Amino acid sequence: MIQRIEATAATLGDGMAIRRALPTRHRRLIGAWCFLDQFGPADVTQGPGLRVAPHPHIGLQTVTWLLRGEILHRDSLGSQQAIQPGAVNLMTSGRGISHSEESPALRPPALHGVQFWIALPDSARHAAPAFRHYPRVPMIERDNARITLLAGELFGERSPAHVYSELVGADVALPAGTLTTLPLRPEFEYGVIATHGEAQVIAGHSEPQSLVPGSLLYFGNGQTGLTLATRATDAGIVLVGGVPLTEPVLLWWNFVARTRGELEQACRDWNAGADYFGTVRGYDGAPLVAPVPPWAGADDAASVVRYP
Ligand code: MN
Repeated sequence: MIQRIEATAATLGDGMAIRRALPTRHRRLIGAWCFLDQFGPADVTQGPGLRVAPHPHIGLQTVTWLLRGEILHRDSLGSQQAIQPGAVNLMTSGRGISHSEESPALRPPALHGVQFWIALPDSARHAAPAFRHYPRVPMIERDNARITLLAGELFGERSPAHVYSELVGADVALPAGTLTTLPLRPEFEYGVIATHGEAQVIAGHSEPQSLVPGSLLYFGNGQTGLTLATRATDAGIVLVGGVPLTEPVLLWWNFVARTRGELEQACRDWNAGADYFGTVRGYDGAPLVAPVPPWAGADDAASVVRYP
């Protein structure tokens, strides 16, 4: 099964325009991947650049991967980390964390990258929060393609990023005139987005699909290989995949949970300053306020989950 999904336009923090490929009306999950945001390339020489004030998370991991530029991450564990191209930054919310993200005062002129969320399985979603910076992850050269392993395994290499379900995430840089095939696991479902340029994508015996920034191609399980090709210009793509989740995953704002009640409680707890979200120190601005969900106090069965 192949599905083409158009990303939705959204805003991150104080006005950074982004493309959101998951969740959409037509697809919520790819394996445990539940949120795929791409920002830029954006000119951050004027104005404040990226500014996302302190906000909480539950039930997820965030994977931040930059192609250009720099972001300063601060969190309630006391982490203060410059996020730069080439390093994988993995934040595990467990039962609760808060963080801020901002362009540093002295910064490169452009910002371009992705932030993806992974839904934690029930066995890990109540655990302690953590933040890890991985300055080096495996890089594989194949047929002129440069494959950086953000999470999981590919070509016998394994990313050190600590994840809690069977999944993969990889950045693939494709110079012009490249033709290469990535091995796929038949028990995984997959999605690919383009970060720049145009690539041709072929799974199994399917027709070639053209992929440019703003679209997601979804491939259901049962595939064993994904062929990527470029013509006269280079391209960048990101592949995500994983075993389809069987647990019900609900999203509201910055929270991932299993029931509407949990999401509503997390909003109320954050707005009441609950200890388990901790405190972000050093950000010049007030924390975000959680929007109380529209189903709050309503009959559970009659309400509808809307995505941020
Ligand atoms: Mn966040």
